[in-house]
Amino acid sequence: MPDVYDVIIIGSGPAGYTAALYASRANLRVLQFQGYNVGGQLMVTSDVENYPGYEEGILGPEMMEKFEAQAKRFGTEMIARDVIAVDFSRRPFRITADGKDEPYLGRSVILATGASAKWLGLANEQRLQGRGVSACATCDGPFFRVQEVVVVGGGDTAMEEALYLTKYASQLYVVHRRDRLRASKIMQDRALNHPKIRFIWDSEVADVLGEENVQGVMVRNLKTGQTQEMPAGALFIAIGHEPNTQLFRGLVDMDPVGYIIQHEHTMTSVAGVFAAGDVADHRYRQAVTAAGDGCRAAIDAERWLEAQGEVDAEQVVDPAAWGDMAPPKEEAREERAS
Ligand code: NDP
Repeated sequence: MPDVYDVIIIGSGPAGYTAALYASRANLRVLQFQGYNVGGQLMVTSDVENYPGYEEGILGPEMMEKFEAQAKRFGTEMIARDVIAVDFSRRPFRITADGKDEPYLGRSVILATGASAKWLGLANEQRLQGRGVSACATCDGPFFRVQEVVVVGGGDTAMEEALYLTKYASQLYVVHRRDRLRASKIMQDRALNHPKIRFIWDSEVADVLGEENVQGVMVRNLKTGQTQEMPAGALFIAIGHEPNTQLFRGLVDMDPVGYIIQHEHTMTSVAGVFAAGDVADHRYRQAVTAAGDGCRAAIDAERWLEAQGEVDAEQVVDPAAWGDMAPPKEEAREERAS
């Protein structure tokens, strides 16, 4: 019988790493699948200015390195491979990673695979991500003070992003592919009546202009086919998000869009399987809320395992794995008890 981990975490954004930190610091044996895209959405973010504790801000990738190092310090084993199959029908749960036939076994599992912003699919959009192209106004809006900014989309997210950006931008253009908005009435009213927001109907962004940073966008009218160049310092794509839950469809309860439903605290419809972060949250989508959720999931997993009698309260992972900065065993036990 192969080794059985107490907790297997899938995902390596703020939720996954925080869950790893808490679970391994609670002396559980933790394996984290980071995926091939280690670090999640923050790897394509430049400065993060709204994560408490970094008063000067920090680069997204640098923050994720710190998250990873902190979880490793307490003994989390990490594998930078994608998970390709899960089996929650029997315990221990079985998790299969790309490149290895034999599944990994976990007494509990935390799903923290996040969500992905939808993109338009333009080559220059990808090239200029983090340099003016963004999918998060809360994260990047303050960088574009007193500049003209373009938002794409006609749903609630687009309206919310546009309204938020009016605090910073000198002028907002909302480019929408139809002549009617999908957003809720109240959000429509707010955006349509805002003096800083102008709508460009029946149109698409055909290209993003700029070498080092976004300098403008090429907008095409879908009815006339006419194109026009518009100067802009930033392009915010707000055409929806997709939870990264394809692998779990039919296995845990989800809402109609595919976000995992947390039934009891962070526990999913399968006892012993927990969800944390954007994979279960389309409302807040912030690094700090995802991290908080990762903490909750790890505590829930630990309590659930204890209730199952599957974790010996005295079980201690070899502190040698923690490196020089590891607290002594006794201190770790005391902290855990407090
Ligand atoms: P939606 O799916 O509601 O809207 C996406 C918008 O983007 C639509 O207007 C759509 O156009 C447009 N779009 C989609 N794909 C493309 C594309 N390839 N090119 C150009 N335009 C595109 O997503 P949201 O993220 O706005 O909202 C998701 C859910 O979250 C909704 O239920 C929403 O109500 C909710 N939400 C609620 C908020 C709140 O209450 N404050 C805030 C944010 C979201 P078209 O209309 O033509 O399909």
